[in-house]
Amino acid sequence: MSERVFLYSDEYQRYDMGADHPLRPSRLVNTYRLLSAYSAFDGVVVAHPKPCSLDWLGTAHSQEYIDAVDRLSTGEHVPFPGRYGFGHGDNPVFPDMYEASLLYTGASLDAAEAICSGEARASFNISGGLHHAHFDRAAGFCVFNDCVVAINRLRERFDRVAYIDIDVHHGDGVQEAYYSDPSVLTISIHESGQTLFPGTGFVKEIGEGGGAGYSVNLPLWPYTDDEAWYYAWSTGAMPILRAFRPEAICLECGTDPHYLDPLARLCLTAQGWLKAIDDVMSIGVPVVALGGGGYNATTVPRMWALAYGSIFGVQLADETPTAFEHHAKIPTLRDTEEPEIAMHDRDYARGYARQMIEEVRSRLFSYHGL
Ligand SMILES: [Zn+2]
Repeated sequence: MSERVFLYSDEYQRYDMGADHPLRPSRLVNTYRLLSAYSAFDGVVVAHPKPCSLDWLGTAHSQEYIDAVDRLSTGEHVPFPGRYGFGHGDNPVFPDMYEASLLYTGASLDAAEAICSGEARASFNISGGLHHAHFDRAAGFCVFNDCVVAINRLRERFDRVAYIDIDVHHGDGVQEAYYSDPSVLTISIHESGQTLFPGTGFVKEIGEGGGAGYSVNLPLWPYTDDEAWYYAWSTGAMPILRAFRPEAICLECGTDPHYLDPLARLCLTAQGWLKAIDDVMSIGVPVVALGGGGYNATTVPRMWALAYGSIFGVQLADETPTAFEHHAKIPTLRDTEEPEIAMHDRDYARGYARQMIEEVRSRLFSYHGL
């Protein structure tokens, strides 16, 4: 029995929103090639994912929306596609959109299945983590919410599941799905909705009804650096995660908090970001890891390789293999330079982080006996 399952298919590249769109399929291919060059798959099951079944997809989306995606994908005329979130810009309709979306969602379901069946203690689908998709609407490059499908599968086996989202954008679609459900704790650490899409994820969004206290948001200001981010993570997120005593964790590993990411303005290094993943793995429960955002071609593969090493317990030398075709552009996994941040921006972001943590403590800690 292998305890680690990695989901991968060349077919992931069909999720292609066009040459000018920032979500490039090469992010996934180059991550796979980098890991291959390391021989990092030795002792790991690399499984070919199945498309998500309609029964499972229906646990996350309305039938009307699923039908609309299918029809738009085949080129059928659907009046007012904007009501389903489609149009020019973030969510264009693209060829084979339905099949491509079923595949990345099925890969996350398979990743959850590997945990639930006892086959694996950790699984990783880099094509998943599309956390912005809503019940009946596409958003933020996301068509189907694979995170919600994976969590729903985990919930069949485990009573308490934690969803951890370290993408720079708020994990709004997942938060919505469990907003009144205390069996799924959602924690998202992100750039503030005041300055970044999707404009939500404030501390005051704590859940409702029986779910009050089980939605945790840590919004941060542009130019937040490793130190302030980890301070917020370790004093805001980790105490609640431990107190919740999850039986399984779904971890969304968006790489876009990196300082070189073109779509957002947090200022993390790869190694600063990795500390949160190490902390999640230290909890010691089964983990379904998913990809997510990340739009700088030279940071995404190395950050997911670092995540892979932490999640699967594989040691990877910091210098990338010379056999890796992008070795010259990505010579090391960790950053060797620091982001340049003006003193007043750094200080403001640190003060903002302290303020947010005070707010998290006062609004949320009492729900968890802290
Ligand atoms: Zn993102």
